Amino acid sequence: MERAWIISVGTELTLGQTVDTNAAWLARRLAEMGIRAERHVTVDDALEPLRDLLRDGAGRADLLLVTGGLGPTDDDLTRQAVAAAAGVELELHPEIVEQIRAFFATRGREMGERNNVQALVPRGGRAIPNARGTAPGVFVEVEGTPCYALPGVPFEMREMFDTEIAPRLRAAARSGVLLSRVVHVVGPGESDIGEVICDLMQRGRNPEVGTTAQFGVIGIRINARGDTPEAAAGLLDATEQEVRGRFGQRIIGRDQDTLATVVGALLIETGSTVSTAESCTGGLIAKELTDVAGSSRYFLGSAVAYANEAKTNALGVPGDLIEREGAVSEPVARAMAEGARSVFASTYALSVTGIAGPGGGSIEKPVGLVYFALATPSGTTCRRVRFGSDPPRAVIRARAARAALDLLRRELLRASAGESP
Ligand code: AMP
Ligand code: MG
Repeated sequence: MERAWIISVGTELTLGQTVDTNAAWLARRLAEMGIRAERHVTVDDALEPLRDLLRDGAGRADLLLVTGGLGPTDDDLTRQAVAAAAGVELELHPEIVEQIRAFFATRGREMGERNNVQALVPRGGRAIPNARGTAPGVFVEVEGTPCYALPGVPFEMREMFDTEIAPRLRAAARSGVLLSRVVHVVGPGESDIGEVICDLMQRGRNPEVGTTAQFGVIGIRINARGDTPEAAAGLLDATEQEVRGRFGQRIIGRDQDTLATVVGALLIETGSTVSTAESCTGGLIAKELTDVAGSSRYFLGSAVAYANEAKTNALGVPGDLIEREGAVSEPVARAMAEGARSVFASTYALSVTGIAGPGGGSIEKPVGLVYFALATPSGTTCRRVRFGSDPPRAVIRARAARAALDLLRRELLRASAGESP
């Protein structure tokens, strides 16, 4: 058993009123036992489309997992669809009626007529007990492929999967596990990264390698299949080393690591502190740094200096410098960083000034133009980046915050290696 389809049923899901968390949860559980969720499908509460989908899945996958649509109301049609896909009738199981009645009794309630439908089981299949609710699950084979249908309520579904289904799947699964790791890279775009590791991204390779991008940080996801967790971890290690060799210092870290956690660790390691002077990022860098627990050990403070007067009053940026060069300029970025370093008495200070848009751009200073400066004990460096004018304001700001943190990270890597800049 290697490939599964996960089917989420419910009109509230397809209309976007409820977010499907069941499919993601089930896919992670399956991966732990070496079964790959090859497809997630979300469908309405409708009989024929679900029946046809189940038949299609039976021909392509080794396992079908369905959640939702097992309730007692007329819009819950999964039971009927599963039976129709298997080409069998539904049979009423009196002992299940009694279980449902007992479930209601423990809550001091009468069982309604409607709930009888929950005691229907496809012929040749079986009911899957539900200790936490009224709706039992259903198991039946669809054209020889095992098909499990579970209620949509997440806590019921999870318990039923873990107690009733996972042990059977483990017994039937090809022995092995699927382990994942993400290596985070900054700098180049996703397509450039794809070029550098295209050989590792070949289909059918084990480990499998893929990328995802988020605001200037690209995740290289490595999925390894192995007979044992140790074997899979060994494969992950080897591919991670290969990736690290190709990207060097552009790699921030892996899994839970972020620019802010990595910068924080380096500040602690080098016994240094940081402050920020932020214009267009409006405190975002400070926010990311202080999202990390324990950041009070190295983060001293931030001045969100948006107006020109604030840059002068809070950071000591000379008014005539702003007048002459413009607030979005290298000299002002430098003066902001040096001002923050002196006001907060920190080892390092980062500054950002730029045009986040959508308005306020000009030919010489277009939307997306950002200057960053880093003041250090041995001088100040400045960088100019054009993020492009098409990304939304929030994206430009997020990228600018990440780029600033990366400037500091690289400086700290040099400092911790004992090099001078
Ligand atoms: P059902 O079993 O279809 O009657 O679903 C019962 C309730 O479970 C729904 O009203 C949803 O709030 C929730 N639910 C159903 N499917 C999902 C899903 N895939 N992810 C998260 N919640 C769900
Ligand atoms: Mg439903």
